[in-house]
Amino acid sequence: MAYPEPLEELVVSFENLPGIGRRTAERLAFHLLRDPEAGKLALAIERALGETEHCALCCNVTETDPCVICSDEQRARDVILVVEEPRDVEAVERSGAWNGLYHVLFGALNPSDGKEEVHLSIPQLIRRLEDGRVRELILGTDPDAEGEATALCVLEAVERAQSKVRVTRMARGLPAGSAIEYLHRGVLEDALEGRRPIQTR
Ligand SMILES: [Zn+2]
Repeated sequence: MAYPEPLEELVVSFENLPGIGRRTAERLAFHLLRDPEAGKLALAIERALGETEHCALCCNVTETDPCVICSDEQRARDVILVVEEPRDVEAVERSGAWNGLYHVLFGALNPSDGKEEVHLSIPQLIRRLEDGRVRELILGTDPDAEGEATALCVLEAVERAQSKVRVTRMARGLPAGSAIEYLHRGVLEDALEGRRPIQTR
């Protein structure tokens, strides 16, 4: 082994992250060794891991369970916007275009990436429909192949559960392939406004 063992361990930790190869991992590790602020990163990672959990309702990452959004009585509690990632919630919140609840699936179906239905928080979503208080689910998964497959997968799960909830899909006015996290308020409002019921295959 060319590097001292603790350094090799750091390189391998970076290498295990998505989209990071050996060369980048080495560059990051050596950058940190020279960075006087590197201790802050270590602390930030430790805090993020230790002081956050998943909201039992929407599954988003939170400091409190239920999260701030799920506990907010001012929000419309009968509509849920279903999104892929926590960063989608962040983006929609920033836009101010939505005042209902959310559900975070934690990804989209992507068989080539090993991401299957069992990895998504669909059962938790179905459980939220049981008391009949949720009137509508808006599927806000990304308008790409993975997002469309995921939307159908959620719809099928709702139908299997024989829930009476209305299921709609955010409008197709969204630029194809654009992740919802990059959209601005106007576009998001139009997409929510123009939502349509979706059908199973
Ligand atoms: Zn929540």
